[in-house]
Amino acid sequence: MVDQMGSGDCIFCQLASGAMDSKVVYEDDDFKAILDIYPASPGHVLVIPKEHVVLFNQLSEYKTQRLGVVAKIVSEKLFKALKPHGLNVFIANGTVAGQKAPHMICHVIPRFEGDGLNFNLPEGTEVDEESFSKIKEFSVNAWGEAKPVETQAPITVSESEVTAPVVQESIDAFDDGKVSLEAINKLYEESDNV
Ligand SMILES: [Zn+2]
Repeated sequence: MVDQMGSGDCIFCQLASGAMDSKVVYEDDDFKAILDIYPASPGHVLVIPKEHVVLFNQLSEYKTQRLGVVAKIVSEKLFKALKPHGLNVFIANGTVAGQKAPHMICHVIPRFEGDGLNFNLPEGTEVDEESFSKIKEFSVNAWGEAKPVETQAPITVSESEVTAPVVQESIDAFDDGKVSLEAINKLYEESDNV
Protein backbone atom coordinates (compact mmCIF):
# COMPACT_ATOMS: atom_id res chain seq x y z
CA MET A 1 0.00 0.00 0.00
CA VAL A 2 1.81 3.11 1.16
CA ASP A 3 5.17 1.39 1.12
CA GLN A 4 4.61 0.20 -2.41
CA MET A 5 4.11 3.77 -3.47
CA GLY A 6 6.96 5.07 -1.36
CA SER A 7 10.35 6.21 -2.49
CA GLY A 8 11.72 2.69 -2.90
CA ASP A 9 9.63 1.80 -5.89
CA CYS A 10 8.94 5.22 -7.29
CA ILE A 11 10.90 5.80 -10.48
CA PHE A 12 10.77 9.56 -9.96
CA CYS A 13 12.23 9.25 -6.46
CA GLN A 14 15.05 7.22 -8.02
CA LEU A 15 15.57 9.88 -10.67
CA ALA A 16 15.52 12.61 -8.02
CA SER A 17 18.02 10.80 -5.77
CA GLY A 18 20.35 9.92 -8.62
CA ALA A 19 19.83 6.17 -8.17
CA MET A 20 18.61 6.29 -11.76
CA ASP A 21 20.51 8.26 -14.38
CA SER A 22 18.98 11.27 -16.04
CA LYS A 23 19.98 14.40 -17.91
CA VAL A 24 20.05 16.94 -15.10
CA VAL A 25 19.59 20.62 -15.99
CA TYR A 26 19.16 21.97 -12.44
CA GLU A 27 19.46 20.64 -8.89
CA ASP A 28 19.21 21.95 -5.34
CA ASP A 29 18.47 20.42 -1.94
CA ASP A 30 14.79 19.95 -2.65
CA PHE A 31 14.38 19.65 -6.42
CA LYS A 32 15.95 18.09 -9.45
CA ALA A 33 15.09 19.23 -12.96
CA ILE A 34 15.74 16.72 -15.73
CA LEU A 35 14.97 16.29 -19.41
CA ASP A 36 11.86 14.21 -20.00
CA ILE A 37 12.85 11.03 -21.85
CA TYR A 38 9.56 11.31 -23.75
CA PRO A 39 9.61 15.04 -24.47
CA ALA A 40 6.52 16.83 -25.70
CA SER A 41 8.93 19.26 -27.36
CA PRO A 42 12.72 19.65 -27.49
CA GLY A 43 13.90 20.73 -24.04
CA HIS A 44 10.84 19.48 -22.13
CA VAL A 45 11.95 19.56 -18.47
CA LEU A 46 10.47 17.77 -15.46
CA VAL A 47 10.96 19.56 -12.15
CA ILE A 48 10.76 16.80 -9.54
CA PRO A 49 10.55 17.25 -5.77
CA LYS A 50 13.11 15.01 -4.07
CA GLU A 51 10.51 14.24 -1.44
CA HIS A 52 7.93 11.66 -2.52
CA VAL A 53 4.70 13.57 -2.87
CA VAL A 54 1.88 12.62 -5.17
CA LEU A 55 -0.13 15.80 -5.34
CA PHE A 56 0.85 19.46 -5.48
CA ASN A 57 -1.10 20.02 -2.25
CA GLN A 58 1.21 17.68 -0.37
CA LEU A 59 4.25 19.86 -0.94
CA SER A 60 5.21 21.97 2.07
CA GLU A 61 4.63 25.71 2.01
CA TYR A 62 8.36 26.40 1.74
CA LYS A 63 8.90 23.91 -1.07
CA THR A 64 5.87 25.21 -2.93
CA GLN A 65 7.45 28.64 -2.98
CA ARG A 66 10.80 27.18 -3.97
CA LEU A 67 9.12 25.29 -6.81
CA GLY A 68 7.98 28.59 -8.30
CA VAL A 69 11.54 29.86 -8.21
CA VAL A 70 12.96 26.66 -9.70
CA ALA A 71 10.37 26.68 -12.51
CA LYS A 72 11.41 30.25 -13.28
CA ILE A 73 15.14 29.38 -13.27
CA VAL A 74 14.51 26.46 -15.61
CA SER A 75 12.34 28.63 -17.84
CA GLU A 76 15.07 31.25 -18.14
CA LYS A 77 17.67 28.60 -18.95
CA LEU A 78 15.42 27.17 -21.66
CA PHE A 79 14.66 30.59 -23.13
CA LYS A 80 18.35 31.45 -23.27
CA ALA A 81 19.57 28.08 -24.50
CA LEU A 82 16.90 27.04 -26.98
CA LYS A 83 15.24 30.33 -27.88
CA PRO A 84 11.72 28.90 -28.01
CA HIS A 85 8.84 31.10 -29.16
CA GLY A 86 6.99 30.48 -25.89
CA LEU A 87 6.83 28.16 -22.92
CA ASN A 88 4.26 26.36 -20.79
CA VAL A 89 4.56 25.53 -17.09
CA PHE A 90 2.02 23.16 -15.68
CA ILE A 91 1.24 20.68 -12.94
CA ALA A 92 -1.27 17.90 -13.53
CA ASN A 93 -3.14 17.09 -10.33
CA GLY A 94 -5.03 13.85 -10.88
CA THR A 95 -5.44 11.47 -13.78
CA VAL A 96 -8.31 13.46 -15.27
CA ALA A 97 -5.96 16.44 -15.40
CA GLY A 98 -3.33 14.38 -17.22
CA GLN A 99 -1.23 13.11 -14.30
CA LYS A 100 0.49 9.87 -15.30
CA ALA A 101 3.07 9.43 -12.53
CA PRO A 102 2.46 8.71 -8.83
CA HIS A 103 4.89 11.52 -7.98
CA MET A 104 4.22 15.21 -8.38
CA ILE A 105 5.91 16.77 -11.40
CA CYS A 106 6.06 20.32 -12.66
CA HIS A 107 6.44 20.36 -16.44
CA VAL A 108 8.32 23.14 -18.19
CA ILE A 109 7.71 22.83 -21.91
CA PRO A 110 9.36 25.05 -24.52
CA ARG A 111 6.97 25.93 -27.33
CA PHE A 112 7.83 26.45 -30.96
CA GLU A 113 5.69 27.72 -33.81
CA GLY A 114 3.97 24.77 -35.42
CA ASP A 115 5.05 22.28 -32.74
CA GLY A 116 1.59 20.68 -32.84
CA LEU A 117 1.01 20.85 -29.08
CA ASN A 118 -2.36 22.13 -28.01
CA PHE A 119 -2.82 23.81 -24.67
CA ASN A 120 -5.60 25.99 -25.98
CA LEU A 121 -8.51 26.04 -23.57
CA PRO A 122 -12.00 26.17 -24.98
CA GLU A 123 -13.83 29.39 -24.21
CA GLY A 124 -16.99 28.87 -22.20
CA THR A 125 -20.12 30.83 -22.78
CA GLU A 126 -20.54 32.58 -19.44
CA VAL A 127 -19.29 32.77 -15.87
CA ASP A 128 -20.65 29.93 -13.76
CA GLU A 129 -22.20 31.77 -10.81
CA GLU A 130 -22.83 28.59 -8.81
CA SER A 131 -19.15 27.60 -8.99
CA PHE A 132 -18.11 31.12 -8.07
CA SER A 133 -20.33 31.17 -4.97
CA LYS A 134 -18.97 27.78 -3.87
CA ILE A 135 -15.36 28.85 -4.36
CA LYS A 136 -15.61 32.17 -2.58
CA GLU A 137 -16.99 30.51 0.56
CA PHE A 138 -13.49 29.35 1.29
CA SER A 139 -10.52 31.33 2.37
CA VAL A 140 -7.65 28.88 2.56
CA ASN A 141 -4.06 28.98 3.64
CA ALA A 142 -1.24 27.37 1.71
CA TRP A 143 -2.15 23.92 3.02
CA GLY A 144 -5.64 24.22 1.62
CA GLU A 145 -7.09 24.46 5.13
CA ALA A 146 -10.23 26.50 5.30
CA LYS A 147 -9.87 29.54 7.60
CA PRO A 148 -12.18 32.37 8.51
CA VAL A 149 -11.04 35.41 6.57
CA GLU A 150 -10.35 37.53 9.65
CA THR A 151 -7.96 35.01 11.24
CA GLN A 152 -6.07 33.95 8.18
CA ALA A 153 -2.36 34.32 8.72
CA PRO A 154 -0.24 35.70 5.92
CA ILE A 155 1.95 33.23 4.11
CA THR A 156 5.49 33.29 5.41
CA VAL A 157 8.61 31.67 4.10
CA SER A 158 10.38 29.38 6.50
CA GLU A 159 13.41 27.23 6.02
CA SER A 160 12.14 24.85 8.62
CA GLU A 161 10.69 21.73 7.20
CA VAL A 162 7.02 21.58 7.94
CA THR A 163 5.16 18.44 7.15
CA ALA A 164 1.98 19.02 5.25
CA PRO A 165 -1.10 17.72 7.06
CA VAL A 166 -1.39 15.00 4.55
CA VAL A 167 -2.35 12.27 4.86
CA GLN A 168 -0.69 8.99 4.17
CA GLU A 169 -4.09 7.40 3.92
CA SER A 170 -4.85 9.33 0.80
CA ILE A 171 -1.80 7.86 -0.88
CA ASP A 172 -3.37 4.43 -0.45
CA ALA A 173 -5.84 5.53 -3.07
CA PHE A 174 -3.07 5.43 -5.64
CA ASP A 175 -2.61 1.68 -5.55
CA ASP A 176 -4.00 1.34 -9.02
CA GLY A 177 -1.41 3.79 -10.27
CA LYS A 178 -4.04 6.42 -10.86
CA VAL A 179 -4.72 9.59 -8.96
CA SER A 180 -8.46 9.48 -8.89
CA LEU A 181 -10.93 12.25 -8.42
CA GLU A 182 -12.07 10.43 -5.28
CA ALA A 183 -8.54 10.46 -3.89
CA ILE A 184 -8.19 14.17 -4.51
CA ASN A 185 -11.52 14.89 -2.87
CA LYS A 186 -10.47 12.74 0.09
CA LEU A 187 -7.25 14.71 0.39
CA TYR A 188 -9.11 18.01 0.46
CA GLU A 189 -11.60 16.72 3.05
CA GLU A 190 -8.77 15.53 5.29
CA SER A 191 -6.99 18.85 4.93
CA ASP A 192 -10.16 20.67 5.95
CA ASN A 193 -10.41 18.58 9.10
CA VAL A 194 -6.91 19.26 10.38
ZN1 LIG B 1 8.37 9.33 -5.67
